Amino acid sequence: MTAYRNFKLVGYVIYGRGAFSQLDEILAPRRQGEAPVVFLVDHFFQDQSAFLSRIPVRGRDRLLFADVTHEPKTSQVDALRDQIRAELGEVSGVVGIGGGSTMDLAKAVSLMLTNPGSSADYQGWDLVKQPGVYKVAVPTLSGTGAEVSRTTVLTGPTRKLGLNSDFTPFDQIVLDPELIANVPATQRFYTGMDCYIHCIESLQGSFLNAFSRSYGEKALELCREIFVRKEGWDGDSDEKLMMASYAGGMSIAYSQVGVAHAVSYGLSYLLGTRHGIGNCIVFNHLEEFYPEGVAEFHRMLAIHRIELPRGVTRGLSDAQMETMVNVSIGMAPLWQNALGPDWQQQMTRDRLRALFARL
Ligand code: NAD
Ligand code: ZN
Repeated sequence: MTAYRNFKLVGYVIYGRGAFSQLDEILAPRRQGEAPVVFLVDHFFQDQSAFLSRIPVRGRDRLLFADVTHEPKTSQVDALRDQIRAELGEVSGVVGIGGGSTMDLAKAVSLMLTNPGSSADYQGWDLVKQPGVYKVAVPTLSGTGAEVSRTTVLTGPTRKLGLNSDFTPFDQIVLDPELIANVPATQRFYTGMDCYIHCIESLQGSFLNAFSRSYGEKALELCREIFVRKEGWDGDSDEKLMMASYAGGMSIAYSQVGVAHAVSYGLSYLLGTRHGIGNCIVFNHLEEFYPEGVAEFHRMLAIHRIELPRGVTRGLSDAQMETMVNVSIGMAPLWQNALGPDWQQQMTRDRLRALFARL
């Protein structure tokens, strides 16, 4: 008999223009006595006083800026956890306000406030044993699906790997399309393409089922509407992108990503390439795996006048190439989804190294 996965979803979802204004009332019943709420806010908002003044900071609550110059590291999560414990003691919850990096930091900090040791000890599948503190996400960039996923991607001392667990999804997400209205077009494209690539990898993967297909097809349709068919960008596009990100995340929740993600993890681990742009750099060269998706991606690059970096692996040493191959080939579930059960025969180390060399 097939053993189906029984997966945990986000607890509550609020969606709509201006929904962010309801955060105060959403948090009120979750406050435990005097225990403060920690707002972890993307450092992008550091000097945006109009936005900051809308964050419902009450009593002993603390607003901390998340430095997302680089994608989240286990050491950064551990340091934030230590700081919160030392300065605030018990907290009522953690609210992450920002892009995928800030949302992942918020998830990981919530988990590490109740689980002993370093976040690096929990990189993997189902290693987290205790629920974290109450956690909320407010995305200000859409595409990663981090708002719905059961993982938080961290770079640790030996690998880049998520804390995948049933305790990882948020208790609450606040989806307010107004918050993504002013994202610069290039950043919007890279993070939006993360969603597009999630859809292609999920829909063409061997793990696909009707659940994943339903969400994946809808998310792909929304991506096409806003990135291919529609001219210009408006509030309607923000609404669609926010829902595409959600649906794309739901699609991979019950399937898996594929080749672009497996390869881009290698790039990111060695070179620190950010997730969105890294996926684009890789996907650009994946005609042999996803011919139609890559052709459409090339059209979107042209429409949005995006010039991708080239030659990013030029000049790397053999040892560095080996490191990338190791990180990438270690993502077994992704390869299995993309290429099927005999993926190891198809994706040899030599073939993978040649692919890295083309980037
Ligand atoms: P990001 O969070 O890394 O942010 C990219 C840049 O955009 C940063 O400089 C940030 O300060 C800035 N920014 C944030 N909000 C902005 C706004 N409203 N306007 C202008 N700039 C803004 O980017 P991302 O693409 O959303 O997230 C990538 C991260 O998400 C990676 O760390 C990746 O590993 C992670 N990720 C997680 C999952 C998951 O399921 N947990 C899935 C995919 C990616
Ligand atoms: Zn992704």
